[in-house]
Amino acid sequence: MDIRLGNGFDVHRFGPGNHVTLCGVHVPHDRGLAGHSDADVAMHAITDAIYGAVAEGDIGQHFPPTDPQWQGAESATFLEHAVALANKRGFQIANVDTTIICEFPKIGPHVATMQARLSEIIGLARDRISVKATTSEQLGFTGRGEGIAAIATAALVAK
Ligand code: MG
Repeated sequence: MDIRLGNGFDVHRFGPGNHVTLCGVHVPHDRGLAGHSDADVAMHAITDAIYGAVAEGDIGQHFPPTDPQWQGAESATFLEHAVALANKRGFQIANVDTTIICEFPKIGPHVATMQARLSEIIGLARDRISVKATTSEQLGFTGRGEGIAAIATAALVAK
């Protein structure tokens, strides 16, 4: 059986705003996340995990931040591309696991909605999509509330 694993990591800094977008879900907050696209740090980590599993580079190669057409783009576009590319390479996604690292906003109340949104975008059952969160115990940039980090793992199996 041909099984591939990929990992992804991303960070976005806080900037002005009244919400953050995480796993495609609008989460009210007293700041936003700065970035060229919608700055969905968790979805970017998942997207990179899928690209990684099929050794197809990273999100910045497929969607250069210097390209104005991706300004303010919904990150679902990037994730859909990674899933389609994996399918084209002969793989289907078995599961995805992501951890969002921040002190605020609180992620727990939004996890079910995030799983549902990712399920729609990836075309994968909700029980194969895990969204978790942790703080960094007030240490480091996430602990100081300077931004949000996310890591992700994706497992792919040959179709
Ligand atoms: Mg990013």
